[in-house]
Amino acid sequence: MARIRFENVEKKYANGFHAVKDLNLDIRDKEFLVLLGPSGCGKSTTLNMIAGLEEVSDGNLLFDDELVNYTPPHKRDVAMVFQSYALYPHKTVFDNIAFGLQMRKAPRAEIETRVRDAARKLEIEHLLDRRPSQLSGGQRQRVALGRAMVRDPAVFLMDEPLSNLDAALRISMRAEIKELHQQMQTTFVYVTHDQAEALTLADRIVVMRDGVVQQIGSPDDIYERPKNTFVASFLGSPPINYIDGVIEDRNGDGVKFVRGDLMLTLPEEIAAKLRHSDRREVRLGIRAEDVDEAAQGGEGTIIRGKVNSVLPVGSDQFLGFDFYGEELFFRVSKDLSHKVGEDVALSVDLNRLHLFDKDSGQSLL
Ligand code: ATP
Repeated sequence: MARIRFENVEKKYANGFHAVKDLNLDIRDKEFLVLLGPSGCGKSTTLNMIAGLEEVSDGNLLFDDELVNYTPPHKRDVAMVFQSYALYPHKTVFDNIAFGLQMRKAPRAEIETRVRDAARKLEIEHLLDRRPSQLSGGQRQRVALGRAMVRDPAVFLMDEPLSNLDAALRISMRAEIKELHQQMQTTFVYVTHDQAEALTLADRIVVMRDGVVQQIGSPDDIYERPKNTFVASFLGSPPINYIDGVIEDRNGDGVKFVRGDLMLTLPEEIAAKLRHSDRREVRLGIRAEDVDEAAQGGEGTIIRGKVNSVLPVGSDQFLGFDFYGEELFFRVSKDLSHKVGEDVALSVDLNRLHLFDKDSGQSLL
């Protein structure tokens, strides 16, 4: 059992840098939790506090109900996998995996069983006699995972473990890590700046910025219901499109979002949240995939612009779309032929719109 709780946790480094601010987070037993955010947002610092590699400056860190602020790393029952793998170059794969157990003076037979068991799960049994230099990046990563697995920790901590791998291998290793989590039935805390990785792996994602949690939720929550423009922009590829405009709610014929010639009639569910908002300045968010060819939508759903660029991406294509001098990106079917310079009308899926306060960036939905 391993539940990890941060209560009002602060981290200030010795030079005074405030890396983590008022962190409140309850990581559930057996959960796969991903800390996501741009470089420098404090995700590694948060992970290192769990590992005991960084001290908590203020607040409480609890494992189950026990305060661990001052518990040294080796007494925390956690195993950490680093981006650099941290393998011993002169040791064989077997000895690299066995290292922690050998240090603990575990019986030989137990070491043998555990190492072979982990190697079988990771499909590297045939590599046990090799040295790290004789392995591919993906194989090295598996050895690093194996070393963490044999310790059978209550908590697995991973700091960007896949970032040194090429794109294809990263995707297959994602699947393996997910499977590993299911097999191990332990709590995983995983740091990444890669939104796609977070969406694939996580039970819940914590999005951080400048040491402050922006949102905690399931991948679906974070993607579909971002709380602010930072979260909305950080997830999704290409990034969400924004159009600044105003709300109109005057003529009794529905609540509209207006920008120049664009007038979108907001569905009742969204309109209900914008009562008394006439002339309010807002930022509309439309994800690239939430448009379709105009023929399928009626007035009040259509956005018109000019094609700036056509970018085929195999299964479909992205249209760079000039709208009042700003470039928006939409994803459309690859069967549609569009040419640069051509006028295009797309219908917007109104039920999937995002609306933010223009100044604060907070969601209005
Ligand atoms: P990355 O993805 O680049 O590793 P991160 O989100 O994991 O970023 P952290 O490593 O947690 O970020 O660092 C958060 C902030 O704290 C950064 O601005 C970093 O420069 C600063 N920082 C990290 N370690 C120290 C330290 N020992 N002393 C002072 N500042 C530090």
